Amino acid sequence: MNEDMKECMFYDIDGDSVRCRLCPHGCRIGEGQSGLCRSRKNIGGKLYSLVYGHPCAIADDPIEKKPLAEWHPGTRCLSIACTGCNLRCPNCQNSMISQASHGEQGCYDCSPDDIVALAKDHRLPTIAYTYTEPLTWFEYLYATATKAHEAGINNVLVSAGFVDEEPLRMLAPFLDAANIDLKSFSDDTYRHFNHARLAPVLRTLLILKEMGVHLEITMLLIPGINTDAGMQQKMFRWMKENGLADCPLHITRFFPAYKMMDACPTPLDEMRKAEMMAKAEGIKHVYLGNV
Ligand code: SF4
Repeated sequence: MNEDMKECMFYDIDGDSVRCRLCPHGCRIGEGQSGLCRSRKNIGGKLYSLVYGHPCAIADDPIEKKPLAEWHPGTRCLSIACTGCNLRCPNCQNSMISQASHGEQGCYDCSPDDIVALAKDHRLPTIAYTYTEPLTWFEYLYATATKAHEAGINNVLVSAGFVDEEPLRMLAPFLDAANIDLKSFSDDTYRHFNHARLAPVLRTLLILKEMGVHLEITMLLIPGINTDAGMQQKMFRWMKENGLADCPLHITRFFPAYKMMDACPTPLDEMRKAEMMAKAEGIKHVYLGNV
């Protein structure tokens, strides 16, 4: 076993297997097997995070790239990512790392203290956990975020929000801002297109709001997947009815990627229609992205 591996939080022994309790997939993982996110493995009856301390990407980004439009504009952040994702979106822009197993991509050796020191050395006021699904490398995210807060550095989570309630509530006090994808407002689409479910994502939005994290939402508009006006109306109404009318909403344009290279970019009139619908339904801060 690699000595760098970190035993996971949030799992139970289940006979010869382990049951991960980090996300709603609840993977039952046999000896020597990894969970669906590929970053958590049963070794000798214990669940280990394979990627702890091994980010595959480290970059200096403008905060607007996350995207965050209404939180510390004009500042920059240290973006980090490890391999791993618990969704299977065929349009993923970062599939090279999100859908890779640990070891398939080059990675760094960086403890949480190293990441905090890097942010300080480069005078970056914020660390962003981003590019893949940070919640699947929860132990590294949590350790880094707590140390960052001790050092007076902000933490930003960029995520699809498909996580169980207990880990999210544990992490939220250390988050300053989050951008969460709301990929559609259809459980069927979440199940078949993203290999996830809608309800846990909605719960994540409400918990982050309740716990005082600055929240922005991203909806990537994909022709034929989430361009239905009725579905969009339900989404915007849900936001308003749940106190999220003031939450900045980023409607971003799809471009062909990963398994959807043959699809067309979102027509601009679809973008404008969604923007008009959101505003008509009372969403106050709507931003169009990638246009
Ligand atoms: S975090 Fe990974 S291993 Fe755990 S339940 Fe989710 S997909 Fe499975």
